[in-house]
Amino acid sequence: MSFAKKLDGLWSSILSELETEISPASFNVWFAKTKQCRTAHSNGQPTIEVSCPSSFIKTTIESRFLPSINKVGRRLLGSNRVKFVFVVSSQATDRTKQPSLINRPMASPSKTSRRGRQIKLNPNYTFRNFIIGPSNQVAVVAAQTIAKNPGNVYNPFFLFGGVGLGKTHLIQAIAHDITKNNPSLKLLYITSEEFTNDLVAAIRKQRMDKYKNKYRSADVLLVDDIQFIAGKTFVQEEFFHTFNSLYMNNKQVIVTADSPPDEISGLPQRIISRFKGGLTIDIQPLDYETRRGIVTQKVIHHNLSLEPQAIELISTYPFDNVREIEGAILKISTLIKMSRRVDDETIKSILGGKRRFHSKTDIKRIVKASANYFNITVRDIKGKSRQAGIAMARQVAMYLCRQELKMSYVEIGNYFGGKDHSTVIHSVDKIQKMFKTNPRIQKAILSIKGGLIG
Ligand code: ADP
Ligand code: MG
Repeated sequence: MSFAKKLDGLWSSILSELETEISPASFNVWFAKTKQCRTAHSNGQPTIEVSCPSSFIKTTIESRFLPSINKVGRRLLGSNRVKFVFVVSSQATDRTKQPSLINRPMASPSKTSRRGRQIKLNPNYTFRNFIIGPSNQVAVVAAQTIAKNPGNVYNPFFLFGGVGLGKTHLIQAIAHDITKNNPSLKLLYITSEEFTNDLVAAIRKQRMDKYKNKYRSADVLLVDDIQFIAGKTFVQEEFFHTFNSLYMNNKQVIVTADSPPDEISGLPQRIISRFKGGLTIDIQPLDYETRRGIVTQKVIHHNLSLEPQAIELISTYPFDNVREIEGAILKISTLIKMSRRVDDETIKSILGGKRRFHSKTDIKRIVKASANYFNITVRDIKGKSRQAGIAMARQVAMYLCRQELKMSYVEIGNYFGGKDHSTVIHSVDKIQKMFKTNPRIQKAILSIKGGLIG
């Protein structure tokens, strides 16, 4: 292929490579709507102009992804002469007026397989649309591994977590992937209520054979919200037999619940121990990074023109779950549609009732209080000295930022002079352990916290 031809299609080629390198959700948010719009030569250097739908996306690509883009570009062209220029283009924005690309799999029914439709999966609930962050990444990796290799790796798979944190979304994402990649497998996705209703109907109509056959012939059984069968003896009994029969035949069983197996009251021990024999993973409450990812996704999805700092601001609120984020974004979207200007004050008044997790002032207060307590300066704490007293003060301050402000490790690292997140994890863990046994640390933490109140 000629160099000129390669240049013309360069951005698409780069995107196909990047897609394999970063998470689907992240790719979707940042790159799905970018487009190569011009190829030019200046001073003998080829320049590729890429249009981005918003300045937020443009700056993020430039600050976070440019090195990878250049690397892939060099690999594809065998030269490093190409320069990338990112522009905000109304053309790209206009395209987003069509259903957002975040919705692409949902928008085209052909993408949802026939079986997928038969079993009433929500077409939006795909891995592609699931934002990955520290609070759910372990669950996502497990889910994707199972989706690739049902029956063989983690069986059964028990996914639990609080309301609105994405359990239904994830379990359906597994179902979507399996139906797409293994269309010959018989997949059954149901809520435990449906399982119950089906059973009641089968008993009433004396069609138990048909019922048993339906569930026991599944290759993959996915049951959402299993806690609802707890205490219903005959449903549990039937579930147990179904489960055993599938399990013995290496068929994949996946369930979700609102709590870990042994905390679901009324669930018999033998079912609990079956679950415990497999893989149990939780989705944790939203942390700052996950919140920011989700807020960004929703902002892009609703095609809202919000400044990056507004997104930051929204993400500092302690949403308990994703539905609350969706509600907040919807309110903001309505205001924008009524052509109201949405500034920081508006956002604060919409989210007013909620106490923000942290602001820069809170971090400063923690750092200052820790420095004072240990008799050193803020500069020392944020600096690089490894002197024992200073390092201890720094670790305590990091611990407090994590405990009190629920900051992410990366954020803490950045604030403390660009330390690596693994250093922060180590420090937080260390202080956490010391807090349990070491009276000196206990006293320090309690005094610093005491000084923060008010
Ligand atoms: P649960 O079953 O745990 O109560 P859901 O799966 O119903 O929660 O999630 C609630 C809503 O939040 C859904 O619209 C879902 O798509 C969305 N959601 C949850 N987690 C995420 C995530 N990580 N990324 C994007 N959307 C999410
Ligand atoms: Mg659910």
